[in-house]
Amino acid sequence: MKYFLAILLALLLVLGAAALVLAIGWREETIPPPSSSAVLQSLRKEALTPVLKLEGTVVRPGVVARGEETVPDSLSGICGSATVREEGTLPEISFGQQPDRVTAALRREDAGEGETLLFTGTLEELAEMDTPANGSYLLDLWAVWDGEEEGFCGTAGYRVALTYELPIRLTVDRQELPQGYFFLLRASNLPEGVEEVTATTDIEFTPTFYPYQGEMVALMPARYNRSAGEYHITLTAGEESRDFTINVTDGGFAVSVQQFEVDPEIANSTVNSPEANAVYTQVTRPLKQMGDPEKYWEGPFILPLDPKYKTSSSTFGRIRIINGVWEQHAGIDYPAPEGTQVWAPNNGRVLYADFLQLTGNTICIEHGFGLKSWYYHLSAVEVEAGQMVKTGDPIGRVGTTGFSTGPHLHFTMSVNNVYVNPEQCLGEDVLGE
Ligand SMILES: [Zn+2]
Repeated sequence: MKYFLAILLALLLVLGAAALVLAIGWREETIPPPSSSAVLQSLRKEALTPVLKLEGTVVRPGVVARGEETVPDSLSGICGSATVREEGTLPEISFGQQPDRVTAALRREDAGEGETLLFTGTLEELAEMDTPANGSYLLDLWAVWDGEEEGFCGTAGYRVALTYELPIRLTVDRQELPQGYFFLLRASNLPEGVEEVTATTDIEFTPTFYPYQGEMVALMPARYNRSAGEYHITLTAGEESRDFTINVTDGGFAVSVQQFEVDPEIANSTVNSPEANAVYTQVTRPLKQMGDPEKYWEGPFILPLDPKYKTSSSTFGRIRIINGVWEQHAGIDYPAPEGTQVWAPNNGRVLYADFLQLTGNTICIEHGFGLKSWYYHLSAVEVEAGQMVKTGDPIGRVGTTGFSTGPHLHFTMSVNNVYVNPEQCLGEDVLGE
């Protein structure tokens, strides 16, 4: 009996061991090894990670919110980068799975000063935007998939570092303009260190370039008293140089000739007085040479007085014979009752507001970049030199001081020392904004 029990115990042990071996063997055979399971799982995840292609390179999102449409507060960490070397706002961007919506935000990285948000909107709207100035930018993209089709459902955020390295661009904003009008010279995409832009021209004007919104801009007048015809400009910045031909068309000034007499006493104390002329030149010459490096004006200019007085008695460039002397009118005359309010036609800084024997009570306002407006013959001056004015601010009153035959406002504009037709600024923003 003892032997039987011993044999039975041994048999049970053997069977148990065999069962254990079988069980282990079964497990090993039917459950895949943990390593291959992780690979499969990550492959499945990979397939559902909404990647985009940036200039052909796969970019994985920095933030993913599965199954929901959400725009988290911020994106940190750069997911990809691209350099743009041709005109156009964007590098080539495509999605593995087309999202239902994409929101884009473009920020400029300012050296040591953080970031400036330049744009938010759709990718299509961003592509329509003017090419940004050379420099470093961050493009944040938020793509949303509603999950109506197979594939990823949710939101993915990508932060792309964009560098703009566009070649220097030199332009003039118009190649044909009437006498007495002015045009705009621009130099953009200037590499760091290149700030000087020069213009050589036969228009007899040396433009001053001012930095504005990442570009260098200058106003260039076509003198109203020079003959119409072809003129030339060569713009140079760094290694880049470009020639332009400008067609200055007839301003139509000679059509009507005004002939009138001014009281000889007034004429002799003003226009015929060498002293009055000398003082005028002495005061205005330095003003004409300067220009503020800031663009104060915004949008089109308005008439500097009540529009009911808009009918001009003498238009810009009109040829007049006064007391037998031929002259070309370098402004617009608006007859209005003595004391009529005159106001600033746009924002600016008062350069001069005082009496001059030649032009009477006189005001000159600098609107930025050398663009100025002038007011003569006022009965009263209501601003002081140095004062900043806003569009519509009262500056003075219509009068008949200086070389004048009756109450009227002589209004004109100039680019530095060249008088230009105010009509150009009354109709449009000079920078096309
Ligand atoms: Zn006048």
